[in-house]
Amino acid sequence: MNVFDIQTNEFRSRHIGPNEAETGQMLETIGVSSLEELIEKTIPSSIISEKTPALPGAQNEYEYLQELKKIAEQNKVFKSYIGQGYYGTITPSVILRNVFENPGWYTQYTPYQAEISQGRLESLLNFQTIVADLTALPFSNASLLDEATAAAEAMSMLFHHVNKAGTPGKPKFFVDTALFPQTIDVLITRAAPIGIELVFGAYQDISVDDSFFGAIVQYPDNNGSVNDYRSFINEVHNINGYVVMATDLLALTLLTAPGELGADVAIGSAQRFGVPPGYGGPHAGFFATKEEFKRNMPGRIIGISIDAQGSRALRMALQTREQHIKREKATSNICTAQALLANMAAMYAVYHGPEKLKQIATRITVLAKTLSDGLNELGYINVNSYYFDTLKVQVNNASKIKSIAENNEVNFRYFDEKYIGISLDETTSQEDVLNILYLFAEASGHSGVSLTFNEDDLPDNIPDHAIRHSGYLSHQVFNSHHSETEMMRYIRLLENKDLSLITSMISLGSCTMKLNAATEMIPVSWPGFAQIHPFAPAYQVKGYTYIINALSEYLCDITGFDACSLQPNSGAQGEYAGLLTINRYHKATGNENRNVVLIPISAHGTNPASAVLAGMKVVVVKSDEEGHIDVADLKTKAEQYTDTLAALMVTYPSTHGVFEESIKDICRIIHDNGGQVYMDGANMNAQCGLTSPGTIGADICHLNLHKTFAIPHGGGGPGMGPICAKEHLAAYFPSHIFNDKIELRAHPFPDSHGAVSAAPYGSASILLISYAYIRLLGAGGVKAATQYAILNANYMRSRLEKYFDILYLGANGTCAHEFIVDLRPFKPTSGVEAEDVAKRLMDYGFHAPTMSFPVPGTIMIEPTESEDKAELDRFCDALISIYHEIKAIEEGKISKTDNPLKNAPHTLQIVCADEWTHPYSRQEAAFPLSYITNNKFWPSVSRINNTYGDRNLVCTCEPVESYMEAEKS
Ligand SMILES: *Cc1c(COP(=O)(O)O)cnc(C)c1O
Repeated sequence: MNVFDIQTNEFRSRHIGPNEAETGQMLETIGVSSLEELIEKTIPSSIISEKTPALPGAQNEYEYLQELKKIAEQNKVFKSYIGQGYYGTITPSVILRNVFENPGWYTQYTPYQAEISQGRLESLLNFQTIVADLTALPFSNASLLDEATAAAEAMSMLFHHVNKAGTPGKPKFFVDTALFPQTIDVLITRAAPIGIELVFGAYQDISVDDSFFGAIVQYPDNNGSVNDYRSFINEVHNINGYVVMATDLLALTLLTAPGELGADVAIGSAQRFGVPPGYGGPHAGFFATKEEFKRNMPGRIIGISIDAQGSRALRMALQTREQHIKREKATSNICTAQALLANMAAMYAVYHGPEKLKQIATRITVLAKTLSDGLNELGYINVNSYYFDTLKVQVNNASKIKSIAENNEVNFRYFDEKYIGISLDETTSQEDVLNILYLFAEASGHSGVSLTFNEDDLPDNIPDHAIRHSGYLSHQVFNSHHSETEMMRYIRLLENKDLSLITSMISLGSCTMKLNAATEMIPVSWPGFAQIHPFAPAYQVKGYTYIINALSEYLCDITGFDACSLQPNSGAQGEYAGLLTINRYHKATGNENRNVVLIPISAHGTNPASAVLAGMKVVVVKSDEEGHIDVADLKTKAEQYTDTLAALMVTYPSTHGVFEESIKDICRIIHDNGGQVYMDGANMNAQCGLTSPGTIGADICHLNLHKTFAIPHGGGGPGMGPICAKEHLAAYFPSHIFNDKIELRAHPFPDSHGAVSAAPYGSASILLISYAYIRLLGAGGVKAATQYAILNANYMRSRLEKYFDILYLGANGTCAHEFIVDLRPFKPTSGVEAEDVAKRLMDYGFHAPTMSFPVPGTIMIEPTESEDKAELDRFCDALISIYHEIKAIEEGKISKTDNPLKNAPHTLQIVCADEWTHPYSRQEAAFPLSYITNNKFWPSVSRINNTYGDRNLVCTCEPVESYMEAEKS
């Protein structure tokens, strides 16, 4: 290699952990002579791709950022007044730097291991409190994907609540046409497959009868109007229906809350709480509801419980409602949501506090009123009598104003030739309002404008019926950290309680917690990408268009497919979008009756949940003793349903971490019986550059860009779940009203395939991360990453198999990029369960691997390519040390009930307490191996009691005193 080659491949050597010498040692441990030999032994030759993907060559970080700056410049950052759910907002620098751009906040996993996740759990609890307070509905979840999908989740939850099993007696859902168009688009997609009948109209005119289960209205609405929905809500309640209100958190600092108006569910987006629009995302959707629905709520809920010492501790509540348990009985498929962005929004509210938030909102509404008056003087009419931040202005010639505005780098919302929308926000200044007036004056031939700012009172554009009298955010957390010093320390205080990739490896099988390189992350906060409205005109977003086209092409190359849709904003949304695509294809080819989907028993819970959402019938396929799909059972079922078979959903390599030799036969059987093969791409980290879904014979797949393609997990989101497919399916991908110029007025859209996300490219700004990942690695690097992912997993397997049973290996005794360690044999001999091992790993400074998926009582380890040998060895040493601890229990050297595993994790407080009564030492408790001395991570609470919190469900910040009182009683 000459010096220039080395420079080009610099990133590869930084992304991949083991160096050449370590690679040699690891191969020796495994017992193979080369990486190539290991791959040959692992991946069946019949599915090895003949050619490597035609990706561009590698770039180093410096070259990449130089090039990306030029691409960013192709996006034009205009002043945006488009609104429609996406607003200008000021991200406080202390939050930008310490949360958004801080790997201590963005590299964590979903807080399943609650004892080492108390920081983000606390912040998510703040988020829930903010949503609950502002909406005046007591139960909020910890975020959903976006506003439109949150609306669809609300509709679906109410539908299933009202129409228990059997034929729906109440199939109708009223949709007010003054809802954001993208929300309507997503509702239409979601309603049809599960048999919901949407009825469109104006809430003032509709009379709902017994056949309605609910209704949705927006507050303030799509036009910006603040309406009084009280009597409408009563009407819906009178027929035993429920009302969803789409709303805006900032507006609610001034407006009567949905809960006070009688709404049953409130949903929306928390974007304008400090999260830049990012051409569509990511930002946190929110969802709040009444007590009655707390067990049916979609998404994750953070709740308060106690730990083994009886102290307050947080964890995810009511896990049993989740799709991964309910499978085909699930009513939602939400897994990854928007934790990082919920945390940003929560921090925004913590930083500002209730008074400042109200001030921000008041200032916006005063400016809106001033603008409305000024426009009036120019002869323009704002058709909204009551509004918060948005005017709908009647004009003669919208295109003339549009051209004047765009010449001045200003975007308004153009409803049609007659109406222009103007949404003001936190970034709007008095000067901006003057500038808007000048633009309108120019269009109407006026030479000057005059205006008076009314800055003290709440102007009369907020009607009496909507003035909020109730308080909010009175908890001390929202009234303490208003100086930057305090805020910085609060963020850091929470960060320190969370184990993330900045501490040690997180070897979560199926979740691929690899390096999220700083260079990949940096452009996401550049204004050229962050400050772009998702509905900005195409000529202003050439930079994004370039990235979207290039990334689509790369992903097609990698998957061996022909077309890509970047709309789904999580893996589960990708599954849902992919299955809808298959359904439409069958329908278009005269096979409307094909609705059966075969799903192996070992599949991830989102697979059957997504299938049900897509209106399909799930038929479960057995696994054989090796954990492989039982091909005979598959064949029988495919033939049994040959007239109605729609698809197979298959994960490859399997969820057991094995490249099944039979995969090509499996695909053939499905095709022979008229079905399509859907591949769950969660395990693409074992395929990229070596084989592909196209090569194995699948028709369509999703990719988890937040697993394989380096988007960080953010503590439970964001993610992106694009789908790639063969040519014959491409025409049936999701569409989007703002992409395909579909006429909204004709309901339901006859030609629309329906959107699955609020924005045309989902959480578009984080596509930059995956784009960067591929550009930095290049074709060779992407392939090397896969080889090293397999090497690292097999190295750990080789070290650990001397102590533990490893389940499900391939024909040559190797694993793919992950492997399953069986802990079940220890229970009868020592009483130790998988959970004890997981908690004990915390004392060793590690996050547990994936627990009990896909096999109960096991852990699944996926090291990824980004960990070096030393870290893999530390993790193996920890597990081996735990093995010896278990042996000591088995041999009766230590108590079955009082031992380091059962008491794990050990907090600093426990270890330093004056009293120590255990039959092992404090040293053994907290520093069982020498490496720990150098990098001790202290869990901030001891083992959490899950059932306690579920019995006494508390999902918002409670004053500590009252909590302790409840505790005593
Ligand atoms: C992560 C995962 C999913 C779900 O992806 P989300 O982005 O969390 O919705 C689906 N299937 C498998 C096998 C996974 O590992």
